[in-house]
Amino acid sequence: ALSITNVTKSFGDNHILKGISLEAEAGEFIALVGPSGCGKSTLLRIVAGLEGADSGEIVAGGRDLTRLVAAERNVAMVFQSYALYPHLTAGQNIAVPLAMRNLTSLQRLPMIGSMLPGQKAIRKDILRQVTDMARSLKIDHLLDRKPGQMSGGQRQRVALARAMVRQPGLFLMDEPLSNLDANLRVHARGEIVDLHRRAGVPTLYVTHDQAEALSMADRVAVMMSGSLLQLAAPEVIYDDPAHIEVAKFVGQPR
Ligand code: ATP
Ligand code: MG
Repeated sequence: ALSITNVTKSFGDNHILKGISLEAEAGEFIALVGPSGCGKSTLLRIVAGLEGADSGEIVAGGRDLTRLVAAERNVAMVFQSYALYPHLTAGQNIAVPLAMRNLTSLQRLPMIGSMLPGQKAIRKDILRQVTDMARSLKIDHLLDRKPGQMSGGQRQRVALARAMVRQPGLFLMDEPLSNLDANLRVHARGEIVDLHRRAGVPTLYVTHDQAEALSMADRVAVMMSGSLLQLAAPEVIYDDPAHIEVAKFVGQPR
């Protein structure tokens, strides 16, 4: 389970997060929605450890994440811009988190540099995990291709595979489908929910797409200017918005 309590964050004089609290159960999928600039990505980055909070608590799987650096948090984050290593093949990209597992941060950089095509840098046990993961996402035929030789949808699957392969305790996704065309997006929704179910860990999923939030999430969290206005099941958010701003956002003014 994930528990975020009173997290605040300012950049200079701008109060970006004004005390965010939310709890997610082990297998729960929470969609985080709200207008551009309200602080969604900042919250995810803080949970992932890519940014520090000014105050507040974040506990996941019984561990106080704020005391751990990003690499120790066992959190997987998928970004809008996939952030694949361009010089590595799909297989090597997926293998990176496994290969890094027991390395210090100083050992990590040369490790990524040395995983060049043709080199047998991937150990056998890692290769097996990569192949299994790739098969379940139907990208096993793409493992030798580099990101530049793949479509957006294929790159998105590679990024998902890389996030999933080390069996994280928490999933954070920041608009992972927004670069895909409409057909692929609808298809990918189901795949992401399946991956989430199989992993059985809490997922925070940022989206601008109301249909995505409605169809994928167990609960929807509506954020506005650094505050959480409502956190409830999709049908409650849509049928009974607790706040005029929530109603405006879901397009059901009353
Ligand atoms: P979008 O839907 O457009 O992605 P968001 O809800 O993800 O928006 P954030 O990226 O969290 O919004 O940004 C929230 C606010 O914090 C914005 O006003 C942004 O300009 C500001 N901000 C984010 N990162 C920084 C930073 N490193 N330094 C200064 N201001 C920042
Ligand atoms: Mg954002």
